[in-house]
Amino acid sequence: MSNVFRLEQLIQRIRSLDKDVEDLRRIRARLPANRSFTPGLQVAFDRHINDILNQKISLEELEVESLPEDLLNEIASVDVATASRISVDREKKEYDLSAEDKRVLEFLRAMPKTEVHLHMEACISKETLAGMLARNRIEYDDEQLNKLYKFSNLQEFIKLFLFIIDSIKTPDDFELVFQNLRDYMNANNVRYGEVFLAPSRMIQNGLDFSEIAETLDRLSRECRLAGGPDIRYLIDVSRTFGPENASKNLQRVLSNAKSSIIGIGLGGAELMGPARDYKDVFAQAQAEGLRTVAHAGEDDGPWSIRDTVEVLKAERIGHGTSAIQDPSLMELIKKKKIPIEICLTSNIFTGKYVRREKDHPVRRYYDDGLICTVNTDDPEIFNVTLTDEYFKLYKSLDFTISEIVDLCRQGVYATFQKNPAGMWNDFKPQIETLRKKYAV
Ligand SMILES: [Zn+2]
Repeated sequence: MSNVFRLEQLIQRIRSLDKDVEDLRRIRARLPANRSFTPGLQVAFDRHINDILNQKISLEELEVESLPEDLLNEIASVDVATASRISVDREKKEYDLSAEDKRVLEFLRAMPKTEVHLHMEACISKETLAGMLARNRIEYDDEQLNKLYKFSNLQEFIKLFLFIIDSIKTPDDFELVFQNLRDYMNANNVRYGEVFLAPSRMIQNGLDFSEIAETLDRLSRECRLAGGPDIRYLIDVSRTFGPENASKNLQRVLSNAKSSIIGIGLGGAELMGPARDYKDVFAQAQAEGLRTVAHAGEDDGPWSIRDTVEVLKAERIGHGTSAIQDPSLMELIKKKKIPIEICLTSNIFTGKYVRREKDHPVRRYYDDGLICTVNTDDPEIFNVTLTDEYFKLYKSLDFTISEIVDLCRQGVYATFQKNPAGMWNDFKPQIETLRKKYAV
């Protein structure tokens, strides 16, 4: 009885925090534009809102006495960047498309692109998963899979994610995953990709990292030889299991040097610990010539991004959604020319700093001269494509086609490939021809 009472109290408290946030946001929106004190006040509001959101999260993460232990274990072991709350279901938003919109959409699909923030585990469609289960002789029924992919809250999302990872039984399973990834990229004319793979849980499940690395490298080489796309990997050393595990993952990468594995990323639950805890891991990776990126400001405030820039010296920031709260940080990112990997749909899904497409800070970042790249984060899980992401910028954030082409160019130069200028020289005339073809 007392458990129920406590849980109710908790829910009430969370609800009241939600209301506080709504109120603060409403007042913040009413601050007069173009007054000298407004930016300072906005920052103060954002800080306060962020404090409350963090309070809310710590409540959400409290161990509820009556919660089954296996569920707690599952939640604690999720090795996924999109951490906290899934606020909307994954059904595709239907736009009312005019004839012009349709031409734009076709243009965006055909435009040659790069993508540098997507997770391999999230490139597994229901069909691929079914194939993997069949191959590993795991019994399942279609109904069960349909249900898994129709998640509408955090627990269900975690369930799907873990189910996917746990279905990978041998390194050969990556052939199916890779095929899925390649099809996705081809369908959206993504010519070059840097893809995350988080091996921690797979290793826990008994897979051998050397074999995984060998397989991924082979698939990437074969794909390049067959005409592309060019797919490289960033191994997500992961925050979820702490710095010691991250360091182990780095040593695995170092002792399995492969031309397709170009660096490391820091994903996993951002609120599990500060970026600075991973200083040594990043310093060693950089000393060994690996490229380094980190998720930051997706689920925590601007201080998390500052740590990532100043302490980890990461070369790109994943999400960076909360940077908007700190003008001096935005200045720093601009000065250091650190690209931000924008994942618009994903940010709306998690709903931490932005709830509506039209409120996404990418508009401000771009206008202020920050380098931005457009990405999907989790294409199959969130049911989005890179084409959709660009279209949302056009439709909801008033990016012109010229601005979109400029974002595409920034996306090329933000990659870690050796000759981005060569790639852009290849893309540019193709894009010009496509603009004429689709009259955009
Ligand atoms: Zn991510």
